[in-house]
Amino acid sequence: MTLTNPASQAKSAHALPSYLNADQLGPWGIYLQQVERVTPYLGSLSRWVETLKRPKRALIVDVPIELDNGTMAHFEGYRVQHNMSRGPGKGGVRFHQDVTLSEVMALSAWMSVKNAAVNLPFGGAKGGIRVDPKTLSRGELERLTRRYTSEIGIVIGPNKDIPAPDVNTNAQIMAWMMDTYAMNEGSSALGVVTGKPLALGGSLGRNEATGRGVFTVGHEAALHMGLDISQAKVAVQGFGNVGGIAAKLFAQAGATVVAVQDHGGTVYQPSGLDVPALLKHVAEHGSVKGFEPAEVLPDAAFWGVDCDILIPAALEQQITAANAHQIKARMVIEGANGPTTPEADDILHERGILVVPDVIANAGGVTVSYFEWVQDFSSFFWSEDDINARLVRILREAFAGIWQVADAHQVSLRTATFIVACTRILQARELRGLYP
Ligand code: NAD
Repeated sequence: MTLTNPASQAKSAHALPSYLNADQLGPWGIYLQQVERVTPYLGSLSRWVETLKRPKRALIVDVPIELDNGTMAHFEGYRVQHNMSRGPGKGGVRFHQDVTLSEVMALSAWMSVKNAAVNLPFGGAKGGIRVDPKTLSRGELERLTRRYTSEIGIVIGPNKDIPAPDVNTNAQIMAWMMDTYAMNEGSSALGVVTGKPLALGGSLGRNEATGRGVFTVGHEAALHMGLDISQAKVAVQGFGNVGGIAAKLFAQAGATVVAVQDHGGTVYQPSGLDVPALLKHVAEHGSVKGFEPAEVLPDAAFWGVDCDILIPAALEQQITAANAHQIKARMVIEGANGPTTPEADDILHERGILVVPDVIANAGGVTVSYFEWVQDFSSFFWSEDDINARLVRILREAFAGIWQVADAHQVSLRTATFIVACTRILQARELRGLYP
């Protein structure tokens, strides 16, 4: 008989499966480091912290479709439900050629944190397909979306897990997802996805909500920093749903948007880019490239642009130890999910640059998704003014609470947001207890 040391047994009981290991660089490793940083502040709830270090459920699906030329293609799809202690899973679906399980796991975990930080009654989930949707025809994209929805149909539902748009997915894709789910279930199921078209139970204000949230939270942070938005110079990376709308709202508030970078290049105009004209240019040409009379900057120079507010609103891991020293801004407002690596976070902190983290800065989208879900259940729809007013109130209150925690513990806003959110998640976990 082999005797087992209870201490080592307890330790191995907590050992993470290899695919959850923090040593793997990448978004999931970054998330785990963020959880490590917050653990000392969780008091007796830290007993439950292991729950946060692994997803509740991760589904990998094969998504076969017939291409227009008659050949077959297979894509890999995911739906990860990180934590559902506080309610059904909630989080977007991303179509991108670089999507990996690690990325979707991290994005699902950040959704748990975000939903709890804003106190929405949701857990965290995320989905994706590793595909470059720009290579597909509309018909192929519809078949891909419908097959993916059918494959993940066993785990989603209005009371189980509610997908939404993310990078390269939009209201039309949500319409196909809703329709596929409703056909399979044999009943109308408006609340199974959010970010739907208005004609199908979508919510007014949803399209602009994330950008509006970035602006609202940025505005609150600027007040604390004594920074007047109408005098501020702003640089934005990513000019899609989040970055484009945030830039528009900052410009409307009198800020000077001096630089914008997207996948096509970087445009720079110290006197201020004409944001509505740039939005029109991108709608017509697909990118900021070629926008006149702006100067073209090499992409790497974007990070060193003279500005007060920097808004990364594209993809993960953009602000790294390699470029964090160049940043001249007084504050970084994270429109994208996970744009700053932990090393870069430390550099910015040491340099006195305020980072308003993704988990609060871009929570506007999921907040209005929550409103959409509520409206779908009651089949009673609110005015856009109502929606925007409720959104601004919720984000301001959440931000004020997080600022207080940051002040009380003398920690970064990211750690403060994680303290607030992880406490709520783990309180729910403790109250529910373990089943069986
Ligand atoms: P989008 O597809 O509308 O826009 C993405 C933008 O990023 C585009 O302008 C694209 O050109 C740019 N981009 C892509 N690759 C780039 C690169 N290598 N360098 C510079 N720019 C690049 O996507 P979105 O919905 O605006 O999402 C952007 C980010 O915000 C993502 O991290 C997403 O997870 C996050 N987010 C989105 C929402 C939402 O409601 N849409 C909500 C919360 C968080």
